[in-house]
Amino acid sequence: MKKNDSNIKKAVKYLNNNDCIGLPTETVYGLAANAYSNKATKKIFSLKKRPINNPLIVHYYKVRDLKKDCETNVNFYKLYKAFCPGPITFILKLKKKSKISKNVTNKKNTLAIRFPSHTIARKLLKSINYPIAAPSANISESISPVSKKDVIDEFGNKIKFVLDGGRSKIGVESTIISLVKTPKILRLGGLSISALEKELKMKLRIYLSNNSKIKTPGSSKLHYSPGIPIRMNANMIKKDEAYLLIKKKLRQNKNYFYLSEKKNLMECCKNLYKTLRKIKKLGYKKIAVEKIPNQGFGLVINDRLIRASK
Ligand code: AMP
Ligand code: MG
Repeated sequence: MKKNDSNIKKAVKYLNNNDCIGLPTETVYGLAANAYSNKATKKIFSLKKRPINNPLIVHYYKVRDLKKDCETNVNFYKLYKAFCPGPITFILKLKKKSKISKNVTNKKNTLAIRFPSHTIARKLLKSINYPIAAPSANISESISPVSKKDVIDEFGNKIKFVLDGGRSKIGVESTIISLVKTPKILRLGGLSISALEKELKMKLRIYLSNNSKIKTPGSSKLHYSPGIPIRMNANMIKKDEAYLLIKKKLRQNKNYFYLSEKKNLMECCKNLYKTLRKIKKLGYKKIAVEKIPNQGFGLVINDRLIRASK
């Protein structure tokens, strides 16, 4: 516990100094910086090589802090009560008097916000008097990190400090819902759509495609990519391919990689990025993926793999 506290202190020092740090969350690790600082948020974009028109998610400790920057509404409170802190990001209207850096929003009048549940992320947010902008801590288009080691793999000594919070429990990004007008889903993620629909008592429209007028990098063509070709719906593998499976096969092979022993799709989500990273590190040049049911968390896995295979 003592060690955690001194690491949080260290992290705060870097953040106060407008530096970026690696931050564990329950979804994936973030590349964190002071969301009110132009200097700090500019560093996020250059480190990630992220296009400036891709806005960032801002992380808060409590609603009282959020209200300085955003307009809240009834749907927000319903979902906040049911699911926060947790793997859900809300798009809300930005207040005119907000101090959020223009770099974060790409000068939009809306803001993506989230309350992470990871204990270390919460401790850190509680220790500072500004919110934290934190996209996933990977170079743009590559696989999101789910451990301290993954973050170091991505950035090496380009970032000065990474807080260690163990493996990310959810292992994929947050679900994004826009609450600016009629609620709509902008990204599939760690919280299921059915849970959101149940709480809001309405059917939600989903806007993920590239045709969407709302530009989100999560909806850009290539994303979450291990940098090698991915072939979907493969019932057999070709020579030299790694085979990504959703359940353990009776016959094991050294190039078989299963995401869950018994086809638990939530567990598959958790293991997805870690396994893709492992396959790449082992030197495979191609990945074949077994057919994944397009339902529940299978939707999230298919979404990420299809984008990674573009
Ligand atoms: P990540 O880089 O993984 O943190 O992803 C952040 C996601 O939030 C991206 O898909 C962004 O496009 C999306 N996002 C951030 N701000 C907004 C916004 N104001 N409106 C719509 N999507 C947003
Ligand atoms: Mg990302």
